[in-house]
Amino acid sequence: MIYMSNEWFTSFLGIAYRYFDVKMNIVILLSNINYSKSVWNKTVNKWLDNSIKIRFVEYQTKYWFIMSGYDNLGTITTFYKILPRSYNYDRFKLNCNNEAYIKFGTYTPKYRSESKSDDICNCTHTLQNHDYKSGACTLLPCVCTKFMTFQIMLLKKKKAITDIKFLTYDEIKTDSIVWNCFYVRNLDN
Ligand SMILES: [Zn+2]
Ligand SMILES: [Zn+2]
Repeated sequence: MIYMSNEWFTSFLGIAYRYFDVKMNIVILLSNINYSKSVWNKTVNKWLDNSIKIRFVEYQTKYWFIMSGYDNLGTITTFYKILPRSYNYDRFKLNCNNEAYIKFGTYTPKYRSESKSDDICNCTHTLQNHDYKSGACTLLPCVCTKFMTFQIMLLKKKKAITDIKFLTYDEIKTDSIVWNCFYVRNLDN
C-alpha cells in the first residue's frame, strides 16, 4: 500500500479505562458528543482492523499514549498524548492481556451540588469525606480543597484492538509507530 498522508490528532482531553463487555475498554475523551462522533467517523470507524496499534511508553510518573491506524486510502492517523500515570492506568495494564475495546466518549466535570454522597472526588475520596461547608476533603493528609468529579458519556460504537504493547523509554527505537511519533512530533520535548 502507498501511504497518502499522515495525520496527527491530539485534541482529546484524556483517556478513561473501564471494565465491561468482558474486555477492558480504552475510552478516548473528547469535549462533546457531536465532535466525538465526527472524529470517530473520520478515523477509527474507517480503519482497517489489522492496522490498529496502541502503544504505551512509560517514563517516570507519566506515560505516552499512542494509537495509530489507517484506512483503505492509506491515510494514517495517529492519536497521541502525554498523561500522568494513574491507578486506573496501572489496573488496565495489569488486566488487559494486550487487547481491549476502543471507544469514544465525553467528559463533563460534575460539582458537589450534582453529586451523591458516595460519588468519588478526583482526590479519590467520596463526597461524604468532604466538609459540608468548605467543600475541602477531611481525610488527612489529603490536600484537596474542593470536591470535584466527572461524568463520562460513551458513544455506542466500539472496535476491538489486539495489538497493544507497553514499552519502556529505552525501547522506543524498537517500535516503528512509537519511534515515528517521537521523531516526527518531537514528543521528547
Ligand atoms: Zn476531594
Ligand atoms: Zn481527599
